Amino acid sequence: MNSQLKRDIPFLDLKATYTELQKQLDEAYFRVMQSGWYILGSEVEAFEQEWAQYCGAKHCIGVGNGLEALHLILRAFGIGSGDEVIVPANTYIATWLAVSYAGATPVPVEPDPQTYNLDPTRVEELITPRTRAILAVHLYGQTANMTALREIATRRGLVLLEDAAQAHGATWCGIKAGALSDAAGFSFYPGKNLGAFGDAGAVTTNDDAMADQIRVLRNYGSRVKYHNEQKGFNSRLDELQAAILRVKIPVLDEWNQRRKQIAQIYLTELSDVPGLVLPHIDPSADSAWHLFVVQHPERDQLQRRLKENQIGTMIHYPIPPHEQPAYSELGSCLHGKFPIAEHIHRRVLSLPIGPHLSIEDAARVADAVREASWQLASDSTSLQVA
Ligand SMILES: *Cc1c(COP(=O)(O)O)cnc(C)c1O
Repeated sequence: MNSQLKRDIPFLDLKATYTELQKQLDEAYFRVMQSGWYILGSEVEAFEQEWAQYCGAKHCIGVGNGLEALHLILRAFGIGSGDEVIVPANTYIATWLAVSYAGATPVPVEPDPQTYNLDPTRVEELITPRTRAILAVHLYGQTANMTALREIATRRGLVLLEDAAQAHGATWCGIKAGALSDAAGFSFYPGKNLGAFGDAGAVTTNDDAMADQIRVLRNYGSRVKYHNEQKGFNSRLDELQAAILRVKIPVLDEWNQRRKQIAQIYLTELSDVPGLVLPHIDPSADSAWHLFVVQHPERDQLQRRLKENQIGTMIHYPIPPHEQPAYSELGSCLHGKFPIAEHIHRRVLSLPIGPHLSIEDAARVADAVREASWQLASDSTSLQVA
């Protein structure tokens, strides 16, 4: 009906994150601009302390972005050419690229079909003498089963790592993402739960030696300017992004709480809708609800109908890493070998969620999803009858 009178509900409203905190963010900006110091300075140091404390980790090292955080972790642990790293088959490609960047080989594992996270029961059959690490991803904001993965890693002598890029503030058994493994990589890409206004990332770890190594690696392999101990990298966090992130850490819990409220509305309102599969959260996990991902057998149709209602959605992710041209070298041997991951990729759809989506808009999204799903169900029934 009068759809032209409806307001757009964007998938994510990033500008609203600025508007809510404008005064403090503007102050942070002026403080940095007037300081005359722009890369790796007092703002970065303060941010590193504050983020380590928030996560309950001993160390935090600010770096350029999430991909670099993971890459530098692998380098710091001496993982490289000839080594294998176990990764989820269904993740954002950055997880795999970090392993490739380090010169090692990503070895994909199928997900648990309920939580979408790496399935611990499928890990051991993939361990070879070359396996060095398990790199778990806390996908969509839900922590992976770190109890089971820790048990395997300890027993088999492997490093356990987290890709925590989607899980700021999420917990497993009450412990925060970032403090659940030997080292964790965070991204602060603008759309993440804790987002900068540009690229930014960090590593958290309780390991003194690894923290020290990552500090050296991020800055040209140098401790003292123009003295290069190693062939390092340039992956430094800048003062402006650090100052911005410091404004946002204190509101992260409240913003995550708002996400949870939206998730609760969807879970309640959509609990009995034909064809629709809702997220399942393990009782040991507290999700940061980075994304609210449903499955639908006619995903593209559902997305189109929501778009007609001015509701923005996204697909995380349309193509699994092993089917990307970037990994075509694996294609012939891996295609079709990950039926669970491939099935999920064909069906997932992310509904709008974020700290600035109103309760009313979430209810409107839920209504539209329900209506579209019933329509699609009745269309396919009448098709069968005909
Ligand atoms: C965003 C993301 C990354 C990469 O972070 P960047 O800051 O964009 O480099 C890595 N892994 C996952 C799961 C992500 O969602």
